[in-house]
Amino acid sequence: MKVLVANLGSTSFKYRLFDMADERVLARGGVERIGSTESKCFVEAGGRRDELTIQAKNHAVAVRLCLQQLTDKKCLQSPKELAAIGFKAVHAQGMTGVQRVDDRVLAAMEAYNDVAPAHNPPYVTAMRLLATELPEIPLVAAFETGFHETIAPAEKLYAIPMDWIEKHGVKRWGFHGASHRYIGERTTTLLGKPDAKVISCHLGGSSSVCAIAGSKSRANSLGMSPQSGVPHNNRVGDFDVFALPALLRGTGKTLEQILDDLANRAGLLGLSGFNDLRDIEAAAAKDDACAKRALEVFVAAVRHYLGAYLLLLNGADAIVFTGGIGENSVAMRAAICANLDWHGIAIDPQRNAVAKGETRIDAASSRVQLWIMPTNEELIVARQTFAACGLAITDGQRER
Ligand code: ADP
Repeated sequence: MKVLVANLGSTSFKYRLFDMADERVLARGGVERIGSTESKCFVEAGGRRDELTIQAKNHAVAVRLCLQQLTDKKCLQSPKELAAIGFKAVHAQGMTGVQRVDDRVLAAMEAYNDVAPAHNPPYVTAMRLLATELPEIPLVAAFETGFHETIAPAEKLYAIPMDWIEKHGVKRWGFHGASHRYIGERTTTLLGKPDAKVISCHLGGSSSVCAIAGSKSRANSLGMSPQSGVPHNNRVGDFDVFALPALLRGTGKTLEQILDDLANRAGLLGLSGFNDLRDIEAAAAKDDACAKRALEVFVAAVRHYLGAYLLLLNGADAIVFTGGIGENSVAMRAAICANLDWHGIAIDPQRNAVAKGETRIDAASSRVQLWIMPTNEELIVARQTFAACGLAITDGQRER
């Protein structure tokens, strides 16, 4: 049984092909520059990378090209061997969990195009096309919000009129679900403690902190939309909506323009002028005041949620860093963990400085384990897709 997990951009399609018998990644690949006359179609399997330049006028053509390439490479016996395509979908009105993609699901996602403007529109467009053009392949949407269904009302509700919550779904949905689910399950396994209390810090282009107990989400820093929580590379993070009237008057911009600024030109980019944390760190090292301030704001925001979740969980067994920043920025990890000895948290500077891959970085005196852990969102989506399609592995298939 083979499942493709897809990552969609407006002009790109990337995938990993899983054999669900042993959850092995058989191949990864994709198509870039979809819609241009020179689309790049690439596949990596068995230690080899093949690439061809070809025209893929849309996502459906791109998927067909990829399936053919996988068949040529013998990763699939034929395109029909593919059981389903799974998508790490972000947000839908009144809907969460894992869903077979149909008109109802697409309409619910489309209804939140403006709530998740960077994520939903390219997914809806491409998934609608694939559903029409490749009807033979089941499509599954595994929503980022699904992992957070276990969050209690006290952590989930904004203090707003109840009918806004009930009729319009305005609440802290939480996102990054596949990543936090993986980190929660993996850490629980590593600690050998089923009820482990874990604080997962997924810090990357998009960042969030999650409180997890017994592999279940208890709170997430992302709220109604993926623009909330800690500042992101270019999205604002938590923000007081009563700043809007002042901004509308002061800038002369429309509400749509201000929201576009908050979703694309705010966050670390807004404060520092740089989109990538590596550039901000480099500028801060040269004493750039804006860059230094952006780093301070980011660290303070992560610590704000870390503190809240230490209280919520009544301590933690482990704090885990993942995502491009969490896995790679020695300075951010050190700053986030600084001066927490009262909470039993102490980072080992030497281990932190050289850490790579799945490894511990806590000092001998730390009561809380500190980990760096590459996340594996695709594996979670593959499992969910497989389960949603009611696909069962027989013993014969497992033995292959
Ligand atoms: P996304 O949220 O888009 O999936 P990633 O998790 O891949 O993003 O994280 C991307 C970010 O990670 C980059 O914008 C960059 O800021 C940061 N990053 C990657 N490598 C490093 C590094 N060596 N040092 C500091 N930051 C890094």
